Amino acid sequence: MTSQTTATGVTPSPDQIRRAPKVLLHDHLDGGLRPGTIVDLARATGYPHLPETDPGRLGVWFREAADSGSLERYLETFSHTVGVMQTRDALVRVARECAEDLAEDGVVYAEVRYAPEQHLEGGLTLEEVVEAVNEGFREGERTARAHGHRIRVGALLTAMRHAARSLEIAELANRYRDVGVVGFDIAGAEAGHPPTRHLDAFEFLKRENNHFTIHAGEAFGLPSIWQALQWCGADRLGHGVRIIDDIEVAGDGTVKLGRLASYVRDKRVPLELCPSSNLQTGAASSYEEHPIGLLRRLHFRATVNTDNRLMSGTSMSREFEHLVDAFGYTLDDLQWFSVNAMKSAFIPFDERLAMINDVIKSGYAELKSEWLFQQTASTRDSSGLEG
Ligand SMILES: [Zn+2]
Repeated sequence: MTSQTTATGVTPSPDQIRRAPKVLLHDHLDGGLRPGTIVDLARATGYPHLPETDPGRLGVWFREAADSGSLERYLETFSHTVGVMQTRDALVRVARECAEDLAEDGVVYAEVRYAPEQHLEGGLTLEEVVEAVNEGFREGERTARAHGHRIRVGALLTAMRHAARSLEIAELANRYRDVGVVGFDIAGAEAGHPPTRHLDAFEFLKRENNHFTIHAGEAFGLPSIWQALQWCGADRLGHGVRIIDDIEVAGDGTVKLGRLASYVRDKRVPLELCPSSNLQTGAASSYEEHPIGLLRRLHFRATVNTDNRLMSGTSMSREFEHLVDAFGYTLDDLQWFSVNAMKSAFIPFDERLAMINDVIKSGYAELKSEWLFQQTASTRDSSGLEG
């Protein structure tokens, strides 16, 4: 990527992208472990199934398995991460490192999700799982601050679409809503597992005035998005990228939105888009062709997310770098995505507004002012005005 500056906008360098305040709404705790931590935890907990025990090779194994196009291999990656996250100490460590890694990458606010029901094999209760993860996030926020980074991390509790525990997990999310948990999610294979199966969970959360997002419109198309919104009442769409199937672009560039796409745009439904993850699962064929370009142009409430940092070998900065390369985005575009995400977060309105004004806008303003000073400096240098 080249770093260039123009009067109409600043094309950010990788370093500026890393320092830009970023907001992340869709990131899986079991998809973001450090390879070295997986090796340590496997040794400490006696987990015998790792395909590699060298952290470097293990990291490559995860990316290749996720890239392979085989769903079986992709799912195997999660059996290992979840496999080593079955004790209280392991959960605290993974959550702490997650907060630290995001903060180091310039993420200022994140909602990180996980499925408590997948961490019970070592004898923990659902409550103990939630409390361990909360503790890890708080520790990570503190260590990040000690290193000069500020981050706030909220948890989303995920229920698995193929299982029958969604109401129980929704109740759990509601019980911990003022102590670290900001909402609820439903995940797992879309085909054959419509979200309408979990209506009692969504109805419970609505009656409690609570928030939830639903994985919908990733591999599976419009019916999944329609159900998530109009039957289940989702506040946000996890992915939602297939909304593109309801948008027609004619040869002359004229765009026509179908009823569902219009609804999504008119109601400002947040789309938790995850470009690199979509490339791995085949939901898009290249960054340049990723629907995020069109959705941004059409002013959908688009946000940029990592999904699974380990499996995709990515970070928020890397996602932004790919988009800057593919679409020539400037700092203004990155700010637009970040403000969109902050507007769509599940924390209270006044706190979102404070983050937007005091952290995001001021952070981008500072980056843009660097460009102004660089301009003045180069003018001074070339005109020999110094001294
Ligand atoms: Zn996801």
